[in-house]
Amino acid sequence: MRKKTVRDLSDEQLRGKRALVRTDFNVPLDENCDITDDTRIRAALPTLNFLLEHGARPVVLSHLGRPKGKATLKYSLQPVAKRLADLVKAKVLFVESTDTDEAMKASAELGENEILLLENTRFLGGEETNDPRLARALAELGDFFVNDAFGAAHRAHASTAGVAGHLHPAVAGLLMERELDFLGNALANPKRPFVSILGGAKISGKIDVIQQLIEKVDALLIGGAMACTFFRAMGLETGRSLVEEDKVEMARGLLDRAGTRIILPHDATVAPSLEDAAKAHAVSRNGIPADEAMFDVGPQTAESYGRAVASAKTVLWNGPMGVFETPPFDKGTLAVAKAMAEATGLGATTIVGGGDSAAAVTQAGLADKMSHVSTGGGASLEFLEGKKLPGVEALDDLAAA
Ligand code: ADP
Ligand code: MG
Repeated sequence: MRKKTVRDLSDEQLRGKRALVRTDFNVPLDENCDITDDTRIRAALPTLNFLLEHGARPVVLSHLGRPKGKATLKYSLQPVAKRLADLVKAKVLFVESTDTDEAMKASAELGENEILLLENTRFLGGEETNDPRLARALAELGDFFVNDAFGAAHRAHASTAGVAGHLHPAVAGLLMERELDFLGNALANPKRPFVSILGGAKISGKIDVIQQLIEKVDALLIGGAMACTFFRAMGLETGRSLVEEDKVEMARGLLDRAGTRIILPHDATVAPSLEDAAKAHAVSRNGIPADEAMFDVGPQTAESYGRAVASAKTVLWNGPMGVFETPPFDKGTLAVAKAMAEATGLGATTIVGGGDSAAAVTQAGLADKMSHVSTGGGASLEFLEGKKLPGVEALDDLAAA
């Protein structure tokens, strides 16, 4: 069932009304609380600008970090308010609380072309327990609800799911809509060939995704440490590589079931340890030395994965091919990122999900060459696993107009 979005609201429902907007302003901060990457703030701008242009008055809620129900200066949204003010053509007001009289008053007095940002929702004890009293209190802050926080949609919290039970219309923002469209279409009706690339450290966190995707893709290319668990299932020597022993049996089952649709690296870049990156060298997958570990896919694999991506019409990527944080083990990841960027140019739909993969693509300067880079790590994984996201489920259905 499609969900209503801000674009389904009438002028009457928007003009002069307070829009309670849940955004995902969970940005990375350095030790001085300076924002090191404002992608998530920028990603919320289309919705905020849409609301402002239609005369609505955004009252914005977000979480930041894990303050565990206590007000902690380190997790204040104050720096976000400053950055937001630089990015929008509206005045940004910040109130250091969320469910207080002061916040209520500020929301009631909010003027045209003003945005009110309230303090971190996770400073409140009831947020993560989805306390109905908090949800009702939050609902008082707006005349309708907009959820644009895709990155938090897999959590049933008071400000993501709970509040939508008390405030209608409850609609998706433009970022939320975009995320659901890209990920949803890739799964429901991908243009073929549909190639997916999965990597990262652990197979255990991605088993459900593998199981979902294997039914839908034309090819599933495996990289990252997870490849080593499959190698072990094939009876290969994996040396000191990261292998999840308790998942070897499951990996064997997946290989039996998927046949030739699961593709594993032919070669590996190995080294005695990460600190010994200078000793990195390529070996065939049959030749991983007993006293070394695989830290990246090998050069032949990088090339053949690149070719598979180049010939695809839909590409979905989650999880780096190697320890991309430590060169030269970033080569496989960069090869995939570059091949995807080129595929986009040739008309393919290219989607990157997962926090570290998105960071790798941004680091490579290729983020704007992808059709879509998801802002939601955990949320995109849960969506790809076929799970319902509570923050989305709680929104109004389009048909129930
Ligand atoms: P994402 O956030 O994109 O979903 P993950 O969190 O699953 O990705 O995995 C990212 C991590 O996997 C990175 O920190 C990377 O260093 C690690 N990784 C990738 N390949 C290997 C490998 N061969 N050995 C150890 N760690 C690896
Ligand atoms: Mg990660």
